[in-house]
Amino acid sequence: MKQSFTGNFTQQEPIPEAGIEAALRVMRAGRLHRYNVAVGEVGETALLEQEFAAFTGAAYALAVASGGYAIGCALRAMGVGPGDPVLTNAFTLAPVPGAIAAVSARPVFVEVTESLTIDLDHLAQRISETGAKVLLLSHMRGHICDMGKLMAICDAGGVSVIEDCAHTMGGTWKGVPSGRHGRVAAYSTQTYKHINSGEGGLLTSDDPDLMARAVILSGSYMLFERHRAAPPREAFEKVKYVTPNVSGRMDNLRAAILRPQLADLPAQVARWNALYRTVEEGLRNTPGLKVIERPAEEGIVGSSIQFLLPEFGADRIAQVQSGCAARGVELKWFGGAEPVGFTSRYESWRYAETQSLPQTDRILAGLMDMRLPLTFSLDDACLIAGIIADEVRGAQ
Ligand SMILES: *Cc1c(COP(=O)(O)O)cnc(C)c1O
Repeated sequence: MKQSFTGNFTQQEPIPEAGIEAALRVMRAGRLHRYNVAVGEVGETALLEQEFAAFTGAAYALAVASGGYAIGCALRAMGVGPGDPVLTNAFTLAPVPGAIAAVSARPVFVEVTESLTIDLDHLAQRISETGAKVLLLSHMRGHICDMGKLMAICDAGGVSVIEDCAHTMGGTWKGVPSGRHGRVAAYSTQTYKHINSGEGGLLTSDDPDLMARAVILSGSYMLFERHRAAPPREAFEKVKYVTPNVSGRMDNLRAAILRPQLADLPAQVARWNALYRTVEEGLRNTPGLKVIERPAEEGIVGSSIQFLLPEFGADRIAQVQSGCAARGVELKWFGGAEPVGFTSRYESWRYAETQSLPQTDRILAGLMDMRLPLTFSLDDACLIAGIIADEVRGAQ
């Protein structure tokens, strides 16, 4: 009998008890709106921002309603407007080009490499072709490119970098936290990311003027002095009359749930990486399967794993996928023509100009993806890798 896996790929861990208790306190007090605080009280949202700034090392942090909102807010705060070209890697998730479209700007896709990171040569070429002044860099599935080289290219081209850290919260490049290389970084606290409040997002930056605009954009009703990780008053005086309120705040309930999770994140990252390395080892040396080697400079958060079946073609990939599914292992494929669930590819975003990215097409055609929730054990990880390796061998 072939072995099967019976776990659930979308089952998260419960919210820590400390988070549940903090959430109950907020609900009992009734002060859920972030600016609804008692005299002398500092709200949960302001405390979360302060703790997140300390966690990343950023001067300023802002909590918002979602990761997509955080990206859109960063674009607006940078002054990106209708028709502006915004560079972004072609391998990313739908809310990334969506945030660009939300400010009526134009997504300009950049090729990715077999390491699943942005192709730096193509980036340089696109900068000179388009004159774009903003790169929305998505660290898709946690893969971080050579940030030193990327920043050198962008600095030389006068390009500001927004880092989309939805998959790299807790990750590093050469020891520097992800999100600390560009001008501003956006994070998500949606259920499938690294800390879970259902929905939510965070924004960090060292730029006082940009962050003052972001705070006002998020809907601060001139109550910015209730923040603890915001720029000084002078920064707000410069922008407060000319920055619209595009409401997208976080509330105290979500922040209360998130604070204990943020404190636990380093330990959770270690657990994710143990699962990741176990699956990676189990897949290595499978004929026809290419493991994505992670550079030594990268501090990973292995909350999902990707691998390539470069020579398989659509039919054999479908065979592997259905063989794994029959044995309880959920693999996603980025080569499918139709967007399915969370998995879609750049040609599906037809509101953007049609663009041709042959290298990305070739890579996505063989790209498989799998979640690694923390409810899995190391034995589960071993079993899952064994099933995948088996099905890949069987489809040779
Ligand atoms: C989830 C995600 C976002 C957006 O986050 P939401 O909180 O769902 O809006 C942005 N970029 C990537 C790569 C994501 O995976």
